[in-house]
Amino acid sequence: MSDQNSEQEPWYRDGLNFTCTQCGNCCTGAPGVVWVDDAEIKAIADLTGKSTGEIMLMHTRLYAGRRTLTEYANGDCTFFDPEKRGCTIYEARPVQCRTWPFWNSNLKDKASWDSLSPDCPGAGKGAFVSFEEIQKRSEQIDL
Ligand code: SF4
Repeated sequence: MSDQNSEQEPWYRDGLNFTCTQCGNCCTGAPGVVWVDDAEIKAIADLTGKSTGEIMLMHTRLYAGRRTLTEYANGDCTFFDPEKRGCTIYEARPVQCRTWPFWNSNLKDKASWDSLSPDCPGAGKGAFVSFEEIQKRSEQIDL
């Protein structure tokens, strides 16, 4: 079946595999954006015990009319702990981080999904993720 029929029968109908290895690649490296809205900023503030104003000032910036998390000069997310190689706000991480790698751009076709593996060693391996769960995650954000 071709990808042209993907609206009816997505190529990942039988589910996919993914388990985060916590390598940290998606939180570091090449510059990018991690969109955050007011509710997500509030959740981060609540988790860290800081004010929403401080979170906005110290960890976000405006880009293309929206708010994104900031990065250090080396590309690390400002919420990434380089020693522990982990996210310091994991429980309150934004939807963009929660739904990775099940973004529309990665699910567009199998080649797009397969191309993730060099940078995201968890994609295509580990726990089975059902079609319904993939849909649930991908519908939360359009990336
Ligand atoms: S790149 Fe993939 S495996 Fe590595 S931390 Fe991110 S989601 Fe996990």
